[in-house]
Amino acid sequence: MLRLTADDVRLGVRARDKTEAIRAAGALLAERGYSAPDYVASMLGREAQSNTFLGRGVAIPHGLAQDRALIHRTGVIVVQLADDVDWGPDQPVRLVVGIAARAEEHIGILAALTDALEDRARSSRLARTTRTEDVVEAFTRARAPAPDDAQPAGTASRGDVLQVDVRIRSRGGLHARPATVFAELAGRFDAEIKVQAAGRTANGKALSSLLTLGAGGGASLSILATGPDAADALAALRAAVDSGLGDAVEPGAAVPVPSWVPPPGVHAVAGIPASPGVAIGPLFQFRAARVVAMDRRESSPEAARRALSQAIEAAREQLGDIHEAVVERAGKAEAAIFLAHQALLRDEDLAAEVAALIDTGHCAAWAWDHAVSARVAGLRAVADERVAARAADLHDVGQRVLRLLAGTEHGAPALPDAPVILVAEELAPSDTARLDPRRILGLCTVMGGPTAHTAIIARSLGIPAVVGAGPQVLEHPEGAIAVLDGAAGRLYLDPGAEALDSARLFQADLRRRRARDFETRFQPAVLTDGHRIGITGNIAGVAEAAQAVEAGAEGVGLMRTEFLFLDRDEAPSEDEQYEAYATMVRALDGLPLVLRTIDIGGDKAAPWLTLPKENNPFLGIRGLRLSLRQPALFRLQLRAIYRASALGPVRIMLPMVSSVEELRAAREIAEAVRREVAAAPVAIGIMIEVPSAALMAPELAREADFFSIGTNDLTQYILAMDRTHPTLAPHADGLHPAVLRAVELTVKAATAAGRPVAVCGGIAADPVGALILTGLGAGELSMSLPSVAAVKAGMRRYSLGQAQAFAREALACATADEVRALPLP
Ligand code: PEP
Ligand code: MG
Repeated sequence: MLRLTADDVRLGVRARDKTEAIRAAGALLAERGYSAPDYVASMLGREAQSNTFLGRGVAIPHGLAQDRALIHRTGVIVVQLADDVDWGPDQPVRLVVGIAARAEEHIGILAALTDALEDRARSSRLARTTRTEDVVEAFTRARAPAPDDAQPAGTASRGDVLQVDVRIRSRGGLHARPATVFAELAGRFDAEIKVQAAGRTANGKALSSLLTLGAGGGASLSILATGPDAADALAALRAAVDSGLGDAVEPGAAVPVPSWVPPPGVHAVAGIPASPGVAIGPLFQFRAARVVAMDRRESSPEAARRALSQAIEAAREQLGDIHEAVVERAGKAEAAIFLAHQALLRDEDLAAEVAALIDTGHCAAWAWDHAVSARVAGLRAVADERVAARAADLHDVGQRVLRLLAGTEHGAPALPDAPVILVAEELAPSDTARLDPRRILGLCTVMGGPTAHTAIIARSLGIPAVVGAGPQVLEHPEGAIAVLDGAAGRLYLDPGAEALDSARLFQADLRRRRARDFETRFQPAVLTDGHRIGITGNIAGVAEAAQAVEAGAEGVGLMRTEFLFLDRDEAPSEDEQYEAYATMVRALDGLPLVLRTIDIGGDKAAPWLTLPKENNPFLGIRGLRLSLRQPALFRLQLRAIYRASALGPVRIMLPMVSSVEELRAAREIAEAVRREVAAAPVAIGIMIEVPSAALMAPELAREADFFSIGTNDLTQYILAMDRTHPTLAPHADGLHPAVLRAVELTVKAATAAGRPVAVCGGIAADPVGALILTGLGAGELSMSLPSVAAVKAGMRRYSLGQAQAFAREALACATADEVRALPLP
């Protein structure tokens, strides 16, 4: 939330006329670093278009929308003039409030200002004060209660009030520029026009009154009109609001994902969105109890070794149980981390070191803690932060064994009886998995990133979560009521009654929307002009094929078959694989099944496959590269797939293809296998997830039957940011224009060659991403199952033309933030 400071205020400035006054304001905006010096020309241009007189001696000059690039950061300054300057006939001005706004942060200041101006005595004091503090105070004071004339919709006494409800579609909300557009338009009608938002009522023809609403992006407004041309006025105003009130093309001006817009003044802590949804409730701080081992004498080294091996065995069993429980609750992919934890217990070097310490007379707990802690510290210090991130896993496992040695029960964190928003420094995956979603309304962590296992588990448990929010989240007392918005990545602290009411309304609205979307999940995603986009599911387990159908998916666009290979001691046999694929084909009952051949390597290791250690696993033997180097394994999988293809529509998809040669080699093997099992041909497509593949898309399109763009990997490789990197991963945004341009290249190449092209990376499930990808020409979007219904419903709101125009705007952006800030059509 933006606040005015003393440095933003100049008192007693001399100006001969309006132009000089605006120049003074522009100079101060530039001096404060809010805008480039040229912004003043834009402010004068804006003034030439329409007068920014607010009333009671105040004007609010600001720049033109198209000159937004001249704004460095959002800021508001106040210039108090030594003498009145005429802004227009009968419009004397003493306070010039200069605005350089990229987004809506300043709207709270304007709302406070307009509140202050409602009081004539206060506003004239402000015009003459010689203390900057008075101005600062007036611009930051708590909002006054709603004016007395506030009346809920429909209570007007005349009985001829017409009303429409609209939603502010730009992120900037009803700030000065759109409010001016609204007021000017309303002024063209004879009807009396009022606007209501969050219990306040404003005169729709008066800019200053409209600003008192403090309506941010996404806010709901009711427009009420009385008089002979009321219906026409409402139609015109609704159309103007729907088209953004002149803000439609302003980058940085929209929240496309449904997220709560609090009233001005609510303190927000910003983190990284990890799991969508809104939670409202008391804060509860989770502190993982850390077991510290004392070096006690053990009766004998043998006894110590026995105690340790029993604890390790018990830890292994516990992890097995957790794994099973998480598979059931959240799926195999999410549970895989606990198998990795089990593997850490099998570390032979660690065992040897602990044994040596025990032999020199240390007790089991101390020896274990000493050896594990040294490794954890070593991992944390490694320059490769992905490796350093594994420290959290090893620490988690080390503590588990210590608890068992100490005879301490490892239970779920002790929670109060009523549900809470849990805040924590960091949550170990096992802590997250043990959380009871009925008692955890939301999660907020100081550390972490959106691809951390904690975030993934929270998503699959449906718990709204924010990660990486910084230490401030721990500074608030337990029991304090907060609002957590997982989609926006915000924790709102100390929300007042007004904010809580609005958050509850939003939450109820979100639930209703989800339920509504779910009801229509079996209807296709047909755009308003009849264009249809295919919506399929990404799955990782056999049982999920049936779940995909139930979720409304029109088939499986990506089955990550490697998950059938990971958590076991040996690779599945051909028959076992056949059974798995056949079960999925049957469950899909005629809907297509795209089986991606194993994508092992990178961050996915199979315990039965010993591969040489690599310095850069994501740049190493991964995906198809591995299959081509393990032809027996590849052939076995292809045999099973071809056999299952007799039962229904199966397609083969090759992961991590980086060259035409690899595709040719894979096709050759596949064709030989097909002949062996006497199967009919099956479409063989490739994932486009490596920059070389996107650049060579025209050549690859000649030899692949279809493309599916894996934007998760494409993003990490194009932006050179490891997708599991603890600090870079949050910036590896698939909506980065560089990634979108690679998608555009790929789609164009596929389309020119007459090949179908889908997208199966995470951005396909993002409302903004889905629209852009559709506009770029993708024919199918494949996504995790919980997103299917919402994306289908979302796409039905747009036409292909709107999607194309939106995609063009996205391609022209310079940053991912600019893309995310584009107002949805
Ligand atoms: C991708 O890279 O976008 C993709 C869908 O594959 P995965 O996430 O399994 O690497
Ligand atoms: Mg991938």
